[in-house]
Amino acid sequence: MNIRQQFLQYNAQTSPAPLLLEVAQAEGVYITDTSGKQYIDLISGISVCNMGHGNQAVLDAIAAQSRRYMHTMVYGEFVQTPQTAFATALVDHLPEKLNCVYFTNSGSEATEGAMKLAKRVTARSKFISFNNSYHGSTQGALSIMGSEYFRNAFRPLLPEVYHFNYNDDEVLYSIDHNTAAVVVEMVQAESGVHPADPVWMMALKERCETAGALLIADEIQTGFGRTGTLFAFEQYGITPDILLLGKALGSGLPLGAFIASKDLMDTLSAQPVLGHITTFGGNPVCCAAGLAGFQELSNKQVINSITQKQELFRTLLTHPRILAFRFAGLMMAIQFENESFNQKIIQSCLHRGLITDWFLFAPDCLRIAPPLIISDEDIRSACRIILESIDEVIR
Ligand code: PMP
Repeated sequence: MNIRQQFLQYNAQTSPAPLLLEVAQAEGVYITDTSGKQYIDLISGISVCNMGHGNQAVLDAIAAQSRRYMHTMVYGEFVQTPQTAFATALVDHLPEKLNCVYFTNSGSEATEGAMKLAKRVTARSKFISFNNSYHGSTQGALSIMGSEYFRNAFRPLLPEVYHFNYNDDEVLYSIDHNTAAVVVEMVQAESGVHPADPVWMMALKERCETAGALLIADEIQTGFGRTGTLFAFEQYGITPDILLLGKALGSGLPLGAFIASKDLMDTLSAQPVLGHITTFGGNPVCCAAGLAGFQELSNKQVINSITQKQELFRTLLTHPRILAFRFAGLMMAIQFENESFNQKIIQSCLHRGLITDWFLFAPDCLRIAPPLIISDEDIRSACRIILESIDEVIR
């Protein structure tokens, strides 16, 4: 068996049509396969590698920390400098009430932890989320996922979960004194990039405050500069009660977090103690990598360039077969006539050395979420390949 056959046989498969690119190396915005072919990575491993692959400062931090120590104890017992330094750096960049960080292994675990925290704080159990939202694949996160197709086979899930349409005022009437939390993305990602209406977001936050429910902002995909500010909520004039982070947080190593006020977070340490337990959450090497990547993001002033890069994509990607172009910084979707057309474009791009993808709830949309450090030259090359691919598919 060759490595591809072994992958298909011995690695659990969750898709009937994996992309099957055999990775040899990755650097900057490029991924090279085992045949030596180079690709521009236009999706950053799904919004993870914001500072590109193999950032030197991140690699140095990983090397130095792994020599010092790796795992020493489960979460929350020992003082481990990278964990505390990263929490402090995050808090320094957040509004005052988001001043306490719980590090997890993943985005899903951050969602789970936040939902548990909301239950503890409010002593309520009703959750509200939105159709076509994705918050993770574990059973709590799956319960609030906005797709009956994905939920159905795994029932029973959590009771008292209600889904509403995103950007629709109907939800406001359902947030009541039984509601523990509303879980919402600032830009709905997997529906094919739909930014929240600022007026609606403000109303959602106000309604939560009136009802004593928490607003949980899932910024797992929008975080760390992707939408043009460090966090997308900054563009909405609200501060969530709990902020969920993941993906780019660990700069390529697995790391998530839920962040709240110390007052709220303290409820996890009494009755019962150990209200959320994790062995690897906040792993010191992952935190060292995350902190180094975070410092790089600020030092290189990457966020300042996002709007200009977004506009470059927008002006270059015009074609009669592109039905819509939605964006929030470097989180973009181009919509085609249907899924099969999009799949052909994705395959043609891959053939021409460009990695793109579709969206979980929008299979007719092409995903564009490159490393934030992408150069104008690579943006031009990527757009040229997409346009050539469209022309090839319609030919
Ligand atoms: N929330 C959002 C918005 C996401 O995009 C994802 C991952 N695609 C998650 C939560 C779950 O993160 P993870 O895959 O790390 O569990």
